[in-house]
Amino acid sequence: MESTKCLIIGSGPAGFTAAIYASRANLNPILYEGQQSGGQLITTTVVENFPGYPQGVGGYDMMEDMRAQAQRFGADIRMGSITSVDFSSRPYAVTIDDGSTIQAETIIIATGASAKYLGLEDEKKYAGRGVSACATCDGFFFRKKTVAVVGGGDTACEEANYLASLCEKVYLIVRKGYLRASEIMQKRVLENPKIEVLFKHNTEGLYGEPKLQGAHLVKNLGEAGEQRYDLAIDGFFLAIGHKPNSDLFKPAVETDAEGYIKTDGPTPCTNVPGVFAAGDVADPRYRQAICAAASGCKAAMEAERFLNR
Ligand code: NDP
Repeated sequence: MESTKCLIIGSGPAGFTAAIYASRANLNPILYEGQQSGGQLITTTVVENFPGYPQGVGGYDMMEDMRAQAQRFGADIRMGSITSVDFSSRPYAVTIDDGSTIQAETIIIATGASAKYLGLEDEKKYAGRGVSACATCDGFFFRKKTVAVVGGGDTACEEANYLASLCEKVYLIVRKGYLRASEIMQKRVLENPKIEVLFKHNTEGLYGEPKLQGAHLVKNLGEAGEQRYDLAIDGFFLAIGHKPNSDLFKPAVETDAEGYIKTDGPTPCTNVPGVFAAGDVADPRYRQAICAAASGCKAAMEAERFLNR
Protein backbone atom coordinates (compact mmCIF):
# COMPACT_ATOMS: atom_id res chain seq x y z
CA MET A 1 0.00 0.00 0.00
CA GLU A 2 1.25 3.49 -0.82
CA SER A 3 2.19 5.64 2.15
CA THR A 4 3.01 9.29 2.68
CA LYS A 5 4.18 11.55 5.47
CA CYS A 6 1.60 14.15 4.58
CA LEU A 7 -1.68 13.85 2.70
CA ILE A 8 -3.48 17.06 1.77
CA ILE A 9 -7.15 16.89 0.83
CA GLY A 10 -8.42 19.84 -1.21
CA SER A 11 -7.05 22.24 -3.81
CA GLY A 12 -8.10 25.74 -2.77
CA PRO A 13 -5.74 28.36 -1.31
CA ALA A 14 -5.49 26.35 1.94
CA GLY A 15 -4.58 23.07 0.24
CA PHE A 16 -2.08 24.55 -2.19
CA THR A 17 -0.41 26.72 0.46
CA ALA A 18 -0.10 23.65 2.71
CA ALA A 19 1.44 21.83 -0.27
CA ILE A 20 3.98 24.63 -0.86
CA TYR A 21 5.08 24.62 2.79
CA ALA A 22 5.02 20.84 3.20
CA SER A 23 7.08 20.34 0.01
CA ARG A 24 9.65 22.88 1.09
CA ALA A 25 9.88 21.04 4.44
CA ASN A 26 10.65 17.79 2.57
CA LEU A 27 7.42 16.09 3.62
CA ASN A 28 6.81 14.99 -0.02
CA PRO A 29 3.10 15.72 0.27
CA ILE A 30 0.45 14.10 -1.89
CA LEU A 31 -2.49 16.39 -2.61
CA TYR A 32 -5.88 15.16 -3.85
CA GLU A 33 -7.72 17.93 -5.66
CA GLY A 34 -11.31 16.81 -5.10
CA GLN A 35 -14.23 17.41 -7.42
CA GLN A 36 -13.57 21.08 -8.12
CA SER A 37 -9.90 21.55 -8.82
CA GLY A 38 -8.87 24.98 -7.55
CA GLY A 39 -11.76 25.23 -5.11
CA GLN A 40 -14.28 28.04 -4.89
CA LEU A 41 -11.94 30.69 -6.30
CA ILE A 42 -12.08 29.27 -9.80
CA THR A 43 -15.72 30.38 -9.90
CA THR A 44 -14.78 33.95 -8.94
CA THR A 45 -14.07 36.55 -11.60
CA VAL A 46 -11.53 38.93 -10.08
CA VAL A 47 -9.96 38.67 -6.64
CA GLU A 48 -9.28 42.24 -5.56
CA ASN A 49 -8.34 41.76 -1.93
CA PHE A 50 -5.46 39.27 -2.02
CA PRO A 51 -2.31 41.25 -1.13
CA GLY A 52 0.28 41.49 -3.88
CA TYR A 53 -2.07 42.07 -6.80
CA PRO A 54 -2.69 45.84 -6.99
CA GLN A 55 -4.84 45.40 -10.11
CA GLY A 56 -6.61 42.26 -8.86
CA VAL A 57 -6.12 38.78 -10.25
CA GLY A 58 -8.45 36.26 -11.88
CA GLY A 59 -9.50 33.55 -9.41
CA TYR A 60 -8.66 30.81 -11.91
CA ASP A 61 -5.25 32.35 -12.66
CA MET A 62 -4.42 32.67 -8.99
CA MET A 63 -5.17 29.01 -8.37
CA GLU A 64 -3.12 27.96 -11.40
CA ASP A 65 -0.20 29.97 -9.99
CA MET A 66 -0.58 28.37 -6.55
CA ARG A 67 -0.66 24.90 -8.10
CA ALA A 68 2.45 25.63 -10.19
CA GLN A 69 4.24 26.97 -7.12
CA ALA A 70 3.44 23.80 -5.14
CA GLN A 71 4.56 21.60 -8.04
CA ARG A 72 7.80 23.54 -8.37
CA PHE A 73 8.77 22.26 -4.91
CA GLY A 74 7.74 18.70 -5.72
CA ALA A 75 4.16 18.39 -4.41
CA ASP A 76 2.44 15.37 -5.94
CA ILE A 77 -0.88 16.83 -7.05
CA ARG A 78 -3.45 14.28 -8.16
CA MET A 79 -6.95 14.32 -9.57
CA GLY A 80 -9.46 12.39 -7.50
CA SER A 81 -11.56 12.54 -4.37
CA ILE A 82 -11.36 10.84 -1.02
CA THR A 83 -14.28 8.50 -0.38
CA SER A 84 -13.55 7.38 3.20
CA VAL A 85 -11.07 7.83 6.02
CA ASP A 86 -10.08 5.60 8.92
CA PHE A 87 -8.63 7.57 11.81
CA SER A 88 -8.84 4.67 14.30
CA SER A 89 -5.11 3.91 14.26
CA ARG A 90 -1.94 5.49 12.92
CA PRO A 91 -0.86 5.75 10.17
CA TYR A 92 -4.31 6.76 9.02
CA ALA A 93 -5.92 5.02 6.04
CA VAL A 94 -7.60 7.00 3.29
CA THR A 95 -9.53 5.50 0.37
CA ILE A 96 -9.54 7.26 -3.00
CA ASP A 97 -12.39 7.18 -5.54
CA ASP A 98 -10.36 4.89 -7.83
CA GLY A 99 -10.55 2.26 -5.06
CA SER A 100 -6.93 2.57 -3.92
CA THR A 101 -5.90 3.22 -0.32
CA ILE A 102 -3.11 5.42 1.01
CA GLN A 103 -1.58 5.40 4.48
CA ALA A 104 -0.77 8.85 5.82
CA GLU A 105 1.14 9.87 8.92
CA THR A 106 -0.43 13.32 8.87
CA ILE A 107 -3.50 14.63 7.08
CA ILE A 108 -4.40 18.20 6.22
CA ILE A 109 -8.12 18.63 5.58
CA ALA A 110 -8.65 21.58 3.24
CA THR A 111 -11.92 20.57 1.63
CA GLY A 112 -13.52 24.01 1.76
CA ALA A 113 -17.22 24.67 1.63
CA SER A 114 -20.03 24.26 -0.94
CA ALA A 115 -22.85 26.55 -1.98
CA LYS A 116 -26.11 26.29 -0.05
CA TYR A 117 -29.53 25.95 -1.68
CA LEU A 118 -32.89 27.11 -0.35
CA GLY A 119 -34.12 23.52 -0.16
CA LEU A 120 -36.95 23.88 -2.70
CA GLU A 121 -37.83 20.83 -4.79
CA ASP A 122 -37.89 23.16 -7.79
CA GLU A 123 -34.18 23.89 -7.39
CA LYS A 124 -33.48 20.26 -8.26
CA LYS A 125 -36.10 20.23 -11.01
CA TYR A 126 -34.49 23.17 -12.80
CA ALA A 127 -30.83 22.32 -12.06
CA GLY A 128 -28.98 22.95 -15.31
CA ARG A 129 -32.18 24.43 -16.80
CA GLY A 130 -32.13 27.83 -15.14
CA VAL A 131 -30.94 27.23 -11.56
CA SER A 132 -27.28 27.72 -10.69
CA ALA A 133 -25.10 28.52 -7.69
CA CYS A 134 -22.28 29.96 -9.77
CA ALA A 135 -22.75 33.09 -11.84
CA THR A 136 -19.22 32.97 -13.18
CA CYS A 137 -19.72 29.43 -14.42
CA ASP A 138 -23.22 29.81 -15.90
CA GLY A 139 -23.86 33.53 -16.41
CA PHE A 140 -22.76 33.27 -20.02
CA PHE A 141 -25.88 31.21 -20.83
CA PHE A 142 -28.10 34.10 -19.75
CA ARG A 143 -26.67 36.88 -21.90
CA LYS A 144 -29.27 39.58 -22.61
CA LYS A 145 -31.80 37.73 -20.44
CA THR A 146 -33.42 38.43 -17.08
CA VAL A 147 -32.11 36.69 -13.98
CA ALA A 148 -32.48 36.77 -10.21
CA VAL A 149 -29.82 36.33 -7.54
CA VAL A 150 -30.84 35.24 -4.04
CA GLY A 151 -28.91 36.58 -1.03
CA GLY A 152 -27.77 39.82 0.54
CA GLY A 153 -24.10 39.14 1.32
CA ASP A 154 -20.89 39.91 -0.57
CA THR A 155 -21.26 36.86 -2.78
CA ALA A 156 -24.78 37.83 -3.85
CA CYS A 157 -23.69 41.40 -4.62
CA GLU A 158 -20.64 40.22 -6.52
CA GLU A 159 -22.72 37.78 -8.55
CA ALA A 160 -25.42 40.38 -9.23
CA ASN A 161 -22.82 42.84 -10.53
CA TYR A 162 -21.19 40.21 -12.68
CA LEU A 163 -24.53 39.11 -14.14
CA ALA A 164 -25.49 42.74 -14.79
CA SER A 165 -22.50 42.93 -17.15
CA LEU A 166 -24.05 40.14 -19.23
CA CYS A 167 -27.80 40.27 -18.69
CA GLU A 168 -30.59 42.65 -19.57
CA LYS A 169 -31.91 42.83 -16.01
CA VAL A 170 -30.91 41.41 -12.62
CA TYR A 171 -33.19 41.13 -9.58
CA LEU A 172 -31.53 40.69 -6.20
CA ILE A 173 -33.90 38.81 -3.88
CA VAL A 174 -33.08 39.73 -0.26
CA ARG A 175 -35.06 38.25 2.62
CA LYS A 176 -34.33 41.10 5.05
CA GLY A 177 -34.87 44.83 4.64
CA TYR A 178 -31.12 45.47 4.22
CA LEU A 179 -27.98 44.01 2.63
CA ARG A 180 -25.39 42.27 4.76
CA ALA A 181 -22.61 42.87 2.20
CA SER A 182 -19.68 45.26 2.74
CA GLU A 183 -20.30 48.94 2.01
CA ILE A 184 -18.39 48.94 -1.27
CA MET A 185 -20.28 45.93 -2.62
CA GLN A 186 -23.63 47.39 -1.57
CA LYS A 187 -22.78 50.65 -3.32
CA ARG A 188 -21.93 48.85 -6.56
CA VAL A 189 -25.25 47.03 -6.50
CA LEU A 190 -27.41 49.96 -5.52
CA GLU A 191 -25.81 52.21 -8.15
CA ASN A 192 -26.08 49.68 -10.97
CA PRO A 193 -29.06 50.66 -13.12
CA LYS A 194 -29.53 47.08 -14.32
CA ILE A 195 -29.97 45.71 -10.79
CA GLU A 196 -33.24 45.96 -8.87
CA VAL A 197 -33.09 44.93 -5.23
CA LEU A 198 -36.23 43.23 -3.93
CA PHE A 199 -35.97 43.69 -0.16
CA LYS A 200 -38.06 41.56 2.20
CA HIS A 201 -38.73 38.96 -0.47
CA ASN A 202 -38.65 35.17 -0.23
CA THR A 203 -38.88 32.55 -2.95
CA GLU A 204 -41.58 29.90 -2.58
CA GLY A 205 -41.13 28.05 -5.86
CA LEU A 206 -40.10 28.19 -9.50
CA TYR A 207 -42.12 27.58 -12.66
CA GLY A 208 -41.77 27.08 -16.40
CA GLU A 209 -41.80 24.30 -18.95
CA PRO A 210 -39.45 22.88 -20.09
CA LYS A 211 -37.03 25.55 -18.83
CA LEU A 212 -37.31 28.03 -15.99
CA GLN A 213 -39.64 30.94 -16.76
CA GLY A 214 -40.15 32.53 -13.37
CA ALA A 215 -40.24 32.47 -9.58
CA HIS A 216 -43.15 32.50 -7.13
CA LEU A 217 -42.24 35.25 -4.69
CA VAL A 218 -43.72 36.46 -1.43
CA LYS A 219 -43.14 39.97 -0.13
CA ASN A 220 -43.36 40.85 3.59
CA LEU A 221 -43.81 37.22 4.59
CA GLY A 222 -45.85 36.89 7.79
CA GLU A 223 -46.42 40.64 8.05
CA ALA A 224 -49.29 42.97 7.29
CA GLY A 225 -49.24 43.58 3.56
CA GLU A 226 -47.98 40.09 2.76
CA GLN A 227 -48.15 39.79 -1.01
CA ARG A 228 -47.57 36.89 -3.42
CA TYR A 229 -46.69 37.36 -7.07
CA ASP A 230 -44.79 35.77 -9.95
CA LEU A 231 -41.59 37.24 -11.32
CA ALA A 232 -40.61 36.34 -14.88
CA ILE A 233 -36.95 35.28 -15.00
CA ASP A 234 -34.77 33.03 -17.15
CA GLY A 235 -32.13 32.27 -14.54
CA PHE A 236 -32.15 31.81 -10.75
CA PHE A 237 -28.79 32.09 -8.99
CA LEU A 238 -28.24 31.07 -5.37
CA ALA A 239 -25.75 33.09 -3.31
CA ILE A 240 -26.86 32.41 0.24
CA GLY A 241 -23.69 31.13 1.80
CA HIS A 242 -21.88 27.86 2.06
CA LYS A 243 -21.79 24.56 3.92
CA PRO A 244 -18.42 23.20 5.11
CA ASN A 245 -17.36 19.98 3.37
CA SER A 246 -16.66 18.01 6.54
CA ASP A 247 -19.17 15.12 6.42
CA LEU A 248 -16.49 12.62 5.38
CA PHE A 249 -14.51 13.19 8.55
CA LYS A 250 -17.36 12.99 11.07
CA PRO A 251 -17.68 11.78 13.76
CA ALA A 252 -13.95 11.11 14.25
CA VAL A 253 -13.13 14.77 13.73
CA GLU A 254 -15.16 17.11 15.93
CA THR A 255 -17.24 19.81 14.25
CA ASP A 256 -19.53 22.58 15.48
CA ALA A 257 -23.29 22.55 14.97
CA GLU A 258 -22.95 23.88 11.41
CA GLY A 259 -20.30 21.31 10.50
CA TYR A 260 -17.20 23.54 10.68
CA ILE A 261 -14.25 21.50 11.96
CA LYS A 262 -13.23 22.54 15.46
CA THR A 263 -9.59 23.48 15.87
CA ASP A 264 -7.54 24.13 18.97
CA GLY A 265 -7.56 27.92 19.41
CA PRO A 266 -5.54 29.71 16.75
CA THR A 267 -3.89 26.46 15.60
CA PRO A 268 -5.15 24.16 12.81
CA CYS A 269 -4.96 21.14 15.17
CA THR A 270 -8.14 19.03 15.34
CA ASN A 271 -9.06 16.60 18.12
CA VAL A 272 -7.33 13.81 16.13
CA PRO A 273 -3.52 13.85 16.58
CA GLY A 274 -1.76 14.49 13.26
CA VAL A 275 -4.96 15.62 11.53
CA PHE A 276 -5.18 19.33 10.77
CA ALA A 277 -7.90 21.47 9.24
CA ALA A 278 -7.27 24.55 7.11
CA GLY A 279 -9.36 27.01 5.14
CA ASP A 280 -13.13 27.38 4.91
CA VAL A 281 -13.88 23.89 6.25
CA ALA A 282 -12.77 25.18 9.64
CA ASP A 283 -13.55 28.89 9.31
CA PRO A 284 -17.12 30.03 9.92
CA ARG A 285 -16.01 33.59 10.57
CA TYR A 286 -13.64 35.00 7.94
CA ARG A 287 -13.83 32.69 4.90
CA GLN A 288 -11.30 34.69 2.89
CA ALA A 289 -8.69 33.34 0.47
CA ILE A 290 -5.89 35.05 2.39
CA CYS A 291 -7.06 33.47 5.67
CA ALA A 292 -7.34 30.06 4.01
CA ALA A 293 -3.82 30.38 2.63
CA ALA A 294 -2.48 31.39 6.05
CA SER A 295 -4.16 28.44 7.76
CA GLY A 296 -2.76 26.10 5.09
CA CYS A 297 0.71 27.37 6.00
CA LYS A 298 0.03 26.77 9.70
CA ALA A 299 -1.29 23.26 9.00
CA ALA A 300 1.87 22.28 7.09
CA MET A 301 4.09 23.67 9.86
CA GLU A 302 2.12 21.74 12.48
CA ALA A 303 2.37 18.57 10.37
CA GLU A 304 6.14 18.99 10.23
CA ARG A 305 6.33 19.52 14.00
CA PHE A 306 4.12 16.51 14.61
CA LEU A 307 6.37 14.30 12.49
CA ASN A 308 9.52 15.58 14.24
CA ARG A 309 8.12 14.86 17.69
P1 NDP B 1 -23.04 35.40 3.88
O1 NDP B 1 -23.27 34.38 4.92
O2 NDP B 1 -22.24 36.62 4.20
O3 NDP B 1 -24.43 35.94 3.33
C1 NDP B 1 -25.46 35.04 3.02
C2 NDP B 1 -26.66 35.84 2.54
O4 NDP B 1 -27.65 34.92 2.13
C3 NDP B 1 -27.27 36.72 3.62
O5 NDP B 1 -27.76 37.90 3.05
C4 NDP B 1 -28.42 35.84 4.13
O6 NDP B 1 -29.50 36.57 4.60
C5 NDP B 1 -28.85 35.16 2.85
N1 NDP B 1 -29.50 33.89 3.13
C6 NDP B 1 -29.07 32.83 3.83
N2 NDP B 1 -29.96 31.83 3.86
C7 NDP B 1 -31.02 32.27 3.14
C8 NDP B 1 -32.27 31.73 2.81
N3 NDP B 1 -32.62 30.49 3.19
N4 NDP B 1 -33.12 32.47 2.07
C9 NDP B 1 -32.78 33.70 1.65
N5 NDP B 1 -31.61 34.30 1.93
C10 NDP B 1 -30.73 33.60 2.67
O7 NDP B 1 -22.42 34.58 2.68
P2 NDP B 1 -21.56 35.08 1.43
O8 NDP B 1 -21.38 33.86 0.63
O9 NDP B 1 -22.15 36.26 0.79
O10 NDP B 1 -20.16 35.52 2.05
C11 NDP B 1 -19.39 34.62 2.83
C12 NDP B 1 -18.10 35.31 3.29
O11 NDP B 1 -17.25 35.55 2.16
C13 NDP B 1 -18.38 36.66 3.92
O12 NDP B 1 -17.48 36.83 4.98
C14 NDP B 1 -18.09 37.63 2.80
O13 NDP B 1 -17.69 38.90 3.27
C15 NDP B 1 -16.96 36.93 2.06
N6 NDP B 1 -16.90 37.32 0.63
C16 NDP B 1 -16.09 38.34 0.27
C17 NDP B 1 -16.01 38.76 -1.04
C18 NDP B 1 -15.09 39.87 -1.39
O14 NDP B 1 -14.61 40.54 -0.47
N7 NDP B 1 -14.80 40.11 -2.64
C19 NDP B 1 -16.80 38.13 -2.10
C20 NDP B 1 -17.67 37.08 -1.62
C21 NDP B 1 -17.71 36.71 -0.30
P3 NDP B 1 -29.51 37.25 6.07
O15 NDP B 1 -28.65 38.46 5.97
O16 NDP B 1 -30.95 37.52 6.23
O17 NDP B 1 -29.00 36.21 7.01
